[in-house]
Amino acid sequence: MRIGMAGAGIGGAGLLLIIALSLLTGENPLDLLQQVGPLPDSAHVGSGGPATAPAAADEESEFVRVVLGDTEDAWGRIFAAAGRQYAEPSLVLYSGAVESACGFGSAAVGPFYCPSDAKVYLDLSFFQDLTSRFGAPGDFAAAYVIAHEVGHHVQRLLGLEGQVARLRQRVSAADANALSVRLELQADCFAGVWGHHAARKDLLEQGDVEEGLRAAAAIGDDRIQRRTQGYVVPDSFTHGSSAQRVEWLKRGLQFGDIARCDTFEGLLR
Ligand SMILES: [Zn+2]
Repeated sequence: MRIGMAGAGIGGAGLLLIIALSLLTGENPLDLLQQVGPLPDSAHVGSGGPATAPAAADEESEFVRVVLGDTEDAWGRIFAAAGRQYAEPSLVLYSGAVESACGFGSAAVGPFYCPSDAKVYLDLSFFQDLTSRFGAPGDFAAAYVIAHEVGHHVQRLLGLEGQVARLRQRVSAADANALSVRLELQADCFAGVWGHHAARKDLLEQGDVEEGLRAAAAIGDDRIQRRTQGYVVPDSFTHGSSAQRVEWLKRGLQFGDIARCDTFEGLLR
């Protein structure tokens, strides 16, 4: 991607993004630079610790912030087009473990979104995990993971997450898992919708889409189960198979339209 990840702080590509953003928003690029410069209050490392990110993580936390900023731009426009206002999620960067309104989170859990506090929780080790554990390197792979969590935030704003949570309480464990899969696949599709908007702003580079699709395939339940337990139990899927995740991410990327992301096929109303 043409953002972050190059050199410490905001690299040349990051600067280009800021200039591009300023052209779109009509804001002075220097103002935008200041906006993405310091750590927001909600971004901290560790639970309640001081806002001092390890130097090695600076580049990655900057990347996360720039991607998050671009998701806000995309979703802000989509919501505005529907006559609604997009409320941005907060970001919590942590290392090791963190306490959230949804319970205890750790690097082992991976990135997650907590609907109760509307925060995206990211342990920066996930960049490393994507490469070493899942064999899915690349900045767009990481951006897809971030955009997926933001997708959950969008589902909450649209009331979809709440409907699914209520429905899950009334059905069998297998059906509850199936609903969870639909919710996750929709978050993948929403990540693709963001990717579509980023591509239209010329923020994507050759190979980015392939990076994202490789990541989606790598974190499919069947692939993970085969690797961790040696066999696959579709009833226990919570995120969808590799093929499903790739398909829905692709659909979002292709159409850039949330109306094309109805993984519930009329189950919700
Ligand atoms: Zn998810």
